[in-house]
Amino acid sequence: MTSASSSPRRVTLIPGDGIGPEVVAAARSVVEAAGAPIEWEVVRAGREVFAEGNATGVSAAAIESLKRNGVALKGPLETPIGHGGKSANVTLRKFFETYGNTRPVRELPGIQTPFSGRGIDFVVVRENVEDLYAGIEHMQTATVAQCLKLVSEKGCEKISRLAFEVALSEGRRSVTCVTKANIMKLTEGMLKRVFERVASDYPDIEPRYMLVDNCAHQLVRHPESFDVLVTTNMNGDILSDLASGLVGGLGIAPGANIGRDLAMFEAVHGTAPDIAGRDMANPTAMLLSAVLMLRHLQMFELADRVEAAVLLTLERGPRTGDIAGGMEACGTAAFTDAIIGNLGRAPDGWKPRTHRPLHLPEVAEGPDRTPAERMRCVGIDVFVDSELSPQDLGASISNLMEGSPVRLKMISNRGTVVYPLTGAPTDCVDHWRCRFALREPGASFTDDLVLDVLARIAGRHRYMHLEKLCDLDGQRGYALAQGEE
Ligand code: NAP
Repeated sequence: MTSASSSPRRVTLIPGDGIGPEVVAAARSVVEAAGAPIEWEVVRAGREVFAEGNATGVSAAAIESLKRNGVALKGPLETPIGHGGKSANVTLRKFFETYGNTRPVRELPGIQTPFSGRGIDFVVVRENVEDLYAGIEHMQTATVAQCLKLVSEKGCEKISRLAFEVALSEGRRSVTCVTKANIMKLTEGMLKRVFERVASDYPDIEPRYMLVDNCAHQLVRHPESFDVLVTTNMNGDILSDLASGLVGGLGIAPGANIGRDLAMFEAVHGTAPDIAGRDMANPTAMLLSAVLMLRHLQMFELADRVEAAVLLTLERGPRTGDIAGGMEACGTAAFTDAIIGNLGRAPDGWKPRTHRPLHLPEVAEGPDRTPAERMRCVGIDVFVDSELSPQDLGASISNLMEGSPVRLKMISNRGTVVYPLTGAPTDCVDHWRCRFALREPGASFTDDLVLDVLARIAGRHRYMHLEKLCDLDGQRGYALAQGEE
């Protein structure tokens, strides 16, 4: 029945919160009824672990089990509401560096949508740990907040390679790299540049490029034209939910979080507390996540067997209330029993996609090192909180720099030059970026000069943040402000 070894494979099982235990139990019983040689190790995470005072929401036993087994099926976990409570879901993804979130999006039989019949069948591969979701935020002034968008070359390499490997393992022809590289040339542009380089290692897969706004448009206009999409964390978060909506919504959307040390399979939906414990939850998303898990474990025939039974049940019924579509609704347990009864059968004309083992990219662990000679500091941006007008602030800071080898080059407000005055009616807030350059270009902007600039400014203004402006290998490694020359 399996193409892998027939000795049982141990898998960590996290029942989760809300409807989690019901949908996880459904998935477990179908996988067992299909004959999968899996030994489950049940561990706790979520609400009750938070309640015991564990601030991560993930028990030590869960971490040990995940480390040991490397594969998990996970129910949804409730996120504590209020300040300080971090999501246990995100903690798990970060602890184990599951850098890739993959979500297949496919039209399912029996689920009628405005897109039914179009043959939608693609995968969204989303970077899962970097970008704006690294969670590095600071109040800069009382009224201006900042969130750092961190994108690393290594992160881009891992996610690009994973996308091509997913394409290879599923016999797909193209991978579309989706970015906002036209605006964020350094961060979003990094994914595009790295993807371009990585693509040359996969000559049989067509690399494509699309801006994220156009991608949202094309996903609605021509969803059948996509094969694999790869994108940064926040773009992927939004696009993958949009994509789920095309084929019937979050209740039927499966997903996987993939890393070097852990592959964790879970439904896209949350704990749905309103229907928890009422035999109303739809276990389809969790079941299809278990199908992804079986494929990851190279139990391809078993995966096809479970998938076929789920699809046949969706096609013929009975179905749970959320997707009943005119049929009489059944409960979670009856739906699960129907699927078990359908094991060994498939919808007419259904042909499973041929899958090959997913080869995980090998990208060196540990920090990338940048030799000091590659980076040359040519200036600094000092961010200042001030109630002055651009003209008065510019005059004040220019005066403070008298006699220094450093000059005030410009001041911008939310990215637009406001000093020297442009004549444009730019609306300003109390968060000013003062850009400093050397009076003699070509000289070195030493740390002593940086400290001297800060000392001069701090005497008169409140600064809250500093960025060094560096050239990297002789190329400008920072963005110009709107209107800056
Ligand atoms: P949600 O749990 O996905 O539920 C939203 C609504 O969708 C539910 O009230 C229910 O709608 C419907 N629904 C979702 N899954 C369903 C299923 N399997 N069967 C039938 N209906 C389903 O989203 P939420 O209310 O925003 O989040 C609730 C909690 O879950 C939060 O604590 C959130 O942080 C957490 N969450 C966890 C994960 C995760 O663990 N990966 C993901 C998302 C959210 P009806 O009103 O129509 O019954």
